[in-house]
Parts: sequence; C-alpha cells; structure tokens
Amino acid sequence: MRLPLLQPATTPPPSPSRGDALVDSHGRVIRDVRLSITDRCNFRCVYCMEPDVRFLPREQLLSPDELARLASICLWLGVRRVRLTGGEPTVRPDLLEIIAAVAALGPEDLAMTTNGSLATPALARAWKAAGLTRLTFSLDSLDDATFASMTRSSCSSGTVVDAIRVAIDAGLGPVKANAVVVRGRNEREVVPLARLARDLGIEMRFIEYMPLDSGRAWDPAKLVPASEIVDLISREFPLVPLGKDHEHSTALEYAFADGSPGRIGLIAPVTRPFCGACSRLRITAEGKVRPCLFSVEEWDIGARMRAGASDQSLRDFLLDCAWTKQQGHGIDAPGFRQPDRPMSAIGG
Ligand code: SAM
Ligand code: SF4
Repeated sequence: MRLPLLQPATTPPPSPSRGDALVDSHGRVIRDVRLSITDRCNFRCVYCMEPDVRFLPREQLLSPDELARLASICLWLGVRRVRLTGGEPTVRPDLLEIIAAVAALGPEDLAMTTNGSLATPALARAWKAAGLTRLTFSLDSLDDATFASMTRSSCSSGTVVDAIRVAIDAGLGPVKANAVVVRGRNEREVVPLARLARDLGIEMRFIEYMPLDSGRAWDPAKLVPASEIVDLISREFPLVPLGKDHEHSTALEYAFADGSPGRIGLIAPVTRPFCGACSRLRITAEGKVRPCLFSVEEWDIGARMRAGASDQSLRDFLLDCAWTKQQGHGIDAPGFRQPDRPMSAIGG
C-alpha cells in the first residue's frame, strides 16, 4: 500500500509586504481559490489515483462551516472565484450544505469539477438552487472500453454525457468537460470528444498529462503535446484560434471554423506553461494551503483554525502563504521533484 509522504507543515516566512490582498513575491495577485472538499473518489483514473491509495480519516475533512470560514477569509483578501473540487466532490454527503455556505458569501463564481458519475437531474437542480454557478466534468473517452480502462470504474461514458446534458438543462453553464490525453490510451478519442463539443455546444478541454499521479508512472513519452492534439482535431474540424478568454485563463481557446457551436480548449501546462499568469491558490480537504499545484511545501491553516485562531491571524497566515508561491512548476528543470501528494489529494 502506498502512503503519501507529506512534508511537515511549518509556518511560512512572513510576507514583507503584508497588505489586504493575496499577492506573491513575483507580483501575481491571487483571485481564484480551489477548495478541495474530499480526497475520496469512486474512480481510480490512471493518471491520478492508484487503486490502493489511502484516504484521510473522515474527521480530518473540513466541515461545511470550516470550509465557509476559509472561503470568507479568501474572499476578504480579494479572491473572486471559488471552485469546489477533490477527489470527487459529489461523494460528500453534505455537499449541498457546503455549496450553500460558500455561495452565501457571494463569490463572483462558484464552480465545481466532477467526474459526473453521481449527478442526477434532481441533484443538479438542487446544486443550482443552493448557489452553484457552473459545472466542469471530466470525460476522457466516449468509448466504453477505453473509459473503463482509464477510470477503472464501473461507470459508463454515457452516464457522464447524460450528466453533462443534465447540467446544461439545470443552467449550470457554460459547461466544460476535461480530458487528460495519455499516449497509448486515448489519443484516438480526441476527435470523437471534439465532435461531442459541437453536438452539445460545450467547451471540450484537452489537458496535458502532468506528473501528479499517485502511481508515479508519468513519463514524458506518455505526454501528448497540445500542438499534436490541435493537429488531430484540425484535420477533421478546422479550428480558429481565439487566444485566452481572460487574462488568467489556463486554456488556449479555439472555435470551429465552420461556425458550429462548441469550443475547444487546450491546457498545456507542460509544453506551454502559464505560471506567469497564475492567479490560483489551493486548499486541501484537511486545510493545507498549497500556493502552487506543484508546491512541495504546504501550510496548515486547518490546524490553526481548529486550534482557535482568530480571523485576523488566519488572514495574516494566508497572506504569508501566498507570498511563498513559487515562480513556476519547473517540470522540465533538472531538479524537478514531483509533489508527494497526487492530484486527487491536492484538488485539481
Ligand atoms: N474528481 C473530479 C474530476 O475528475 O473531475 C475533480 C477532481 S480531479 C483531480 C480534477 C481534474 O484534474 C480532472 O479534470 C482531472 O482530469 C485532472 N487531473 C487529474 N490528474 C491529472 C494529471 N496527472 N494530469 C493532468 N490532469 C489531471
Ligand atoms: Fe477521481 Fe477525478 Fe482523480 Fe479521476 S481525476 S481519480 S475522478 S479525483
């Protein structure tokens, strides 16, 4: 059994320019927070989680009140958008309470990323009524054999496509779907997924495989670069580049040249890093702050909160954490070290 080798959480050095906004030492302003609400999942995607992964004891997961308190501190410090993620956020029985508690704080946008396996029309309507604004799905293949071998779940791709339709009907849009493309597994699914984007009028985003899998099986040979994905799609559906849809967007956007609805997004953290425009900070399900997806140090705001820290001291702590955000992920640097936490325990 693989045990995550977590770094001891310590206190970040105090930020020399402590103001009222989350900024890092490279001049980037933090506007987006990803709140992981669980490290559990009902899938075991090959690029994310090994079958024998160990989960946190449930009592360590932040409660809806604790999540809302951290979200309110982030919003107070200038964060505008919150995304709930995991693990699989829909496995949390108190998800509705979490959505309602965070939505009540009034973020500009409250989105959630899900594998879509547990979404029903009634739940999607309830999430919307509780204040969720958008849903993003993961969908790596429309072919059931490939889907099963990539997700190592009993869910079918049709269930996720149905869930995407349900989200559109519930008004949880613009709906996006993410596919991680892994060489030798799902390159042939790129064109069918692009066709789905046209059929449903959604944005299909293709993500380069990153070294964040719990099995540590990532290797550059398994990476399918964004440029190759664009070529594959363009041969079937010519594309028009649109650039980024906003300054901090991680995706390069494309429209279909024939005017069909839907969009293609390319997220290329490995071949076209976007670290210079990053406005994100992550908080894990047990309350560890990770200024970067690839942080190898993390800071324990959850423990401070549970020890009775005041809002002001949590704000100061978060300002110090943000200041430590590293300049870039350095995947291609000689000394690159894969974080001990896999994506599922970080909050993707
Ligand atoms: N369980 C939800 C889901 O799958 O949508 C939310 C959590 S998942 C960790 C968030 C996103 O991270 C998913 O879109 C997934 O495809 C992506 N992801 C996970 N491991 C990855 C990796 N090694 N490289 C690139 N993306 C990854
Ligand atoms: Fe679960 Fe999402 Fe990771 Fe897949 S990518 S194992 S659905 S957390």
